[in-house]
Formats: sequence, C-alpha cells, structure tokens
Amino acid sequence: FLKIQRVSKSFSANVNVLEDFSLQISKGEVFSLIGESGSGKSTLLRIIAGKENRDSGEVILGEVRVQNPKEKLVPGYDEIQLVYQDYKLFPNSTVAENIARPLLEYDKDYRETRLNQLLKLLNLESMKDKLPRELSGGQQQKVAIGRALSLEPSIVLLDEPFSSLDTIQRRELIVELKEIFRELEMTVLFVTHDLDDALQMSDHLVIIQKGKIIQQGEAEGIFMKPKSMYAAKLFSHLN
Ligand code: ATP
Ligand code: MG
Repeated sequence: FLKIQRVSKSFSANVNVLEDFSLQISKGEVFSLIGESGSGKSTLLRIIAGKENRDSGEVILGEVRVQNPKEKLVPGYDEIQLVYQDYKLFPNSTVAENIARPLLEYDKDYRETRLNQLLKLLNLESMKDKLPRELSGGQQQKVAIGRALSLEPSIVLLDEPFSSLDTIQRRELIVELKEIFRELEMTVLFVTHDLDDALQMSDHLVIIQKGKIIQQGEAEGIFMKPKSMYAAKLFSHLN
C-alpha cells in the first residue's frame, strides 16, 4: 500500500541522511519507527509526505507516485498527512476552527458533519470553542491529529507527537489514539525515540540507525535476537 523504494537523501556532499531506504506498509497497519536523534526520522517523514526532495528512489501510495516538491507547484499530498511534534495549531483559532481548517473549500454541510464526527471521535466536543492555549498538551495534540484526519487521508505520519507530554498523559493518549486508528482502519507510521511509546503504539517495529533500517519485525523477535548494539541497548531496560 505504501511503498518506499530505495530512497536516498543527503543535505551535504558526504553525509547521507537516508541511504537506500526501503519499507512497505500494508493498509490498516500501524508501524512504530524508532531511531536516535539525527538518524533521519523527520527527513524520512517529510519525504514520504512530499514536503522534501529526495535525491533518488520512489515513494508510492496505492497506485500514485508521491512527487518531489520541486516537481509540483503545491507541495504535499492530501492522502498523506504529517503531524508534527509541536502541533503547529493556529493560536487565535478555536479547536473547531483548527480542525475544520483544511475543509474550508468544502460546502458548509459537509464541513459541519465532518467536524462533528471528528470532535466526537477525539472526545473534544466540550472543548470545541476553546483556544489552543486553554488546552493541555495532550488535548492540543489531539486537535492536530483531528486536523490531519479531517481530509480523510489514507495514511497518517506522526513525528514524535508526544514528546512534550508527561509519561501518564502519553500513555493515556496512545491508548486512545490506538483505538481511534483501529476504528478508522488507518495506516499509521509512528516515529519516536522512546521504545516504550513505540511498543505501546504497535507491535511492529522498524529500527533505524544513520538513515538505514537495521532491523524490523515483531517486538518480541527483536527483543529475543537484536541484530545490533543499538537494538540490544533499546531493549536492555526490559530484561
Ligand atoms: P530527532 O530525533 O532529533 O528529531 P531525526 O531522526 O528526526 O532527529 P532528522 O531531523 O531527519 O533526524 O535529521 C537527520 C540529519 O539530517 C541530521 O544530521 C540533521 O542535521 C540533518 N538535516 C536535517 N534537515 C536538514 C536541512 N534542512 N539541512 C541540512 N541538514 C539537515
Ligand atoms: Mg525529528
């Protein structure tokens, strides 16, 4: 469904941020991608979403090849939605306005129906008229996810969405989101550097180091047979 084929990217001559990166995700699957700071996670997500040029390789969603921004007038592709770590909400717009923002070109009836669905799904109905600053971090992140879901994308990419939340908020939000994604049969690539968050979100892990996949598969298999020091270290506190 999502196919990333041999994508390479460098920002300067001799540093490859991504090298020959390939990954396939089937429809409805949730994958957690884990890697240390600077390993190329955000760059990968921006490339998948068509917001960053790749040097070589292809990204294909269904039958459609995701274009490089330089090939297109408008970067990005509605079918693929990227949610950032720092929410990027409009501070002077309400929860409802933030979520419905991508729907402005649609007629009013559809907009309101979709908005109400999303408020209900995310359990934000009682907060719809509040401003982002009146919400907790977890609630703000849900608004950002609601906005990403508004256009009914095929896949959602989450770039360390919980790093500004405390442990308890994170656990609660992950449980809630997992249920929502399951209900929507959403395909999700969840990026984090926290193994516990990764395991909470999904059993299927992709471990990357310096822009390359070093191991992927079910958590238990990786735990039993880590193929690298990094993978072994990730799991060491669970022993
Ligand atoms: P973190 O966990 O800290 O968010 P990351 O895995 O998301 O890290 P990236 O942001 O993808 O890592 O960065 C990977 C590498 O590419 C880093 O060495 C970074 O300095 C470099 N890099 C990222 N964006 C640019 C850019 N626009 N120009 C030059 N170098 C960049
Ligand atoms: Mg990053």
